Amino acid sequence: MLHCDMIIGGEKISATDSFDVVNPASGEAFASCQLGTANDVDAAVVAARAAFPEWSSMADEKRVEMISALIPALEARMPEFMQLVTQESGKPMGGLNGVGSGMEVGGAMAWIGATAALKPTVEVAHEDDNVKIEVRRRPLGVVGSITPWNWPLMITIWHVIPALRAGNTVVLKPSEYTPVAVTRFAELVNEILPPGVLNLVLGAGEVGSAIASHTGIDKVVFTGSSRTGRRVMESASANLKRLTLELGGNDAGIVLPDIDIEAMAPKLFAACFHNNGQTCAALKRLYVHESIYDEVAEAIAEQAREVVVGDGLDEDTQLGPIQNLAQLEIVKSLAQDAKDQGGNFLTGGNQIDRPGYFFEPTVVTGLSNGSRLVDEEPFGPIVPIIKYSDIDEVLERANDSESGLGGSIWSSDPEKAAELVARMECGTVWVNDHAGLNPNAPFGGIKQSGFGVEFGDWGLEEFSALQTVWLSKA
Ligand code: NDP
Repeated sequence: MLHCDMIIGGEKISATDSFDVVNPASGEAFASCQLGTANDVDAAVVAARAAFPEWSSMADEKRVEMISALIPALEARMPEFMQLVTQESGKPMGGLNGVGSGMEVGGAMAWIGATAALKPTVEVAHEDDNVKIEVRRRPLGVVGSITPWNWPLMITIWHVIPALRAGNTVVLKPSEYTPVAVTRFAELVNEILPPGVLNLVLGAGEVGSAIASHTGIDKVVFTGSSRTGRRVMESASANLKRLTLELGGNDAGIVLPDIDIEAMAPKLFAACFHNNGQTCAALKRLYVHESIYDEVAEAIAEQAREVVVGDGLDEDTQLGPIQNLAQLEIVKSLAQDAKDQGGNFLTGGNQIDRPGYFFEPTVVTGLSNGSRLVDEEPFGPIVPIIKYSDIDEVLERANDSESGLGGSIWSSDPEKAAELVARMECGTVWVNDHAGLNPNAPFGGIKQSGFGVEFGDWGLEEFSALQTVWLSKA
């Protein structure tokens, strides 16, 4: 069994209790972690506040140098990190379209580099003979980061690196389902950065809410469900914390009648099924024009029948298991409801009879808005394909959702697609693609998918406050 300690003020910390981390490909525990409590959050906040003055006043170049040193350190241990991510999240090492733990660890390094390369500037808001007014940015203080299980290492990097880069110190709580690679990352950070700059509290049941309500924490960045996001927001009111909430999505894709079906089917399939559908901005509802509906649905189902599902540690595996039992139960219940509603299963629909949390890649036609599989985020390998005839009406149906994370238009006519983009109610719209992210382009949702953005200057700014400085010339 692997072992994970908490890290507070640069010291490894044990607890009286522990919890196990299960490999979803086997259903068996492979790591044991210390079970932190609200008291550990208190200690982590004390350590983070103590480290803040030195870290925040350090020359920016020095901070960048230390943060950049994490890249070769991660690279030197890339195979180990990949294996840990696969063991705990279930995602394959390589994966469908290269979406696997290699991408996750490689992406983590790329995002550290891109964030380190950002150059915060001082802007001049006004200048005349009497005064120069500068707008500067100052760090917020202590940032609490609560990260999910679908991209455990990558999303930790998305939270922690810009927070640190902007001069904040951090209290980090990874998902109890996937804390192992994040713990190893926190150990590595603590070898390079001063003690107390990044503190790690492991746990389940009380640590996240202790972070969200702690008055010694100035900002919380949370990625997870809209339901928990709402609770984070309630707790954050205690000291008017700033928030970045990257919550669930139920992204719609709209396929126009003019697409090249053969060329687009593999892209559509990957957009829906990469990481087994467990990506906040995966394509989760696919609306296809009636003239090509059957052909597109069959082309996607064919890919689903052929994709190799298995243990992510096996080289040939393209899709792994669902990450945890609770999520498998959600997917099973949505599949059952789709059956009850008369959905037509072109392929899949059942749990796979083997150890672990495997579910068949599933394609369902014949449903529309109003059925659970269309209205709710499945976060698993099951996709409804919905028929439409009129573009105005399908846009209405695509936008008829509480979520507003991403969306896509699929067409051979770029001008037509560009015209429709503006009518999609979501934070990111892709044309002939879905779910691609770039470290220099902002990513975030609207509606119940949350608020605030990550990445680029826009994302970095979320971890600082504006300070307006009047420099009188008189
Ligand atoms: P949640 O989104 O509910 O988040 C669980 C995490 O939040 C844990 O770390 C938990 O820590 C913490 N938490 C729980 N209550 C609070 C609170 N009141 N304040 C602050 N933190 C809290 O995760 P689930 O695993 O339950 O996922 C459920 C759904 O979320 C999935 O079905 C999927 O739809 C969506 N999801 C979305 C993701 C995305 O990328 N946007 C990623 C993963 C899931 P503790 O118990 O210690 O308090």
